[in-house]
Amino acid sequence: MSNKVRILLVEDEPSLIVTLSDMLKNEGYEVECIVDGIAANERIVKDAWDLILLDVILPGMTGFEICRNIRQRGISTPVLILTARGQTSDKVEGLKIGADDYLPKPFEPAELLARIHALLRRSAVNTRTASNWFTFGLISVDLAHSRVFRGSERILLSDREFALLHYLIDHRGSPVSRERLLLDVWGYNAAISTRTIDVHIALLRQKLEADPKNPEFILTVHMQGYRFVG
Ligand code: CA
Repeated sequence: MSNKVRILLVEDEPSLIVTLSDMLKNEGYEVECIVDGIAANERIVKDAWDLILLDVILPGMTGFEICRNIRQRGISTPVLILTARGQTSDKVEGLKIGADDYLPKPFEPAELLARIHALLRRSAVNTRTASNWFTFGLISVDLAHSRVFRGSERILLSDREFALLHYLIDHRGSPVSRERLLLDVWGYNAAISTRTIDVHIALLRQKLEADPKNPEFILTVHMQGYRFVG
């Protein structure tokens, strides 16, 4: 038995099927694609899924009908609706019938991944997925691709800021000295002072902490350096 997270992609647009299934497989998910609404509905009822990506306009049965039907049967698998129709009424309709999230096409692949991740985290199956993601508070860190999100919104970090964050996450719980950070993150360079580290820590706090002046995650340890908790 695979312990990968299983995603059912219900979509009838050939180019999107190829793009999305490749992308999701690259992320370490197991993906099955179904183009027909009626077949998808049966597949969802018969088998267990961790997440369903659901197009709206499908042959046989609409995504809305599928979603309504599975919720009526008590199936609580997270559903993310993908639709070309970007109207608010569609969004309201989708959420009213029990979808968990809604993404209008066209969308950025990174945004879809972040939303998938957020849904999986909410449904607590993420613990057994790729250890490529680390989360703290509302922040999700995609360690494999050096990306950071707050919810589904991307936060841009410089390469050095990301390297520093990654190092702190790897050493979470223990204090790390400025000298250690200088050596391991910057690679010793006589031109750089430990002040540089304080500046980068301040930048990370500004980007990641709800209240940068009273950090919850990137803590200062008096006389020792910094400690990441999360
Ligand atoms: Ca369609």
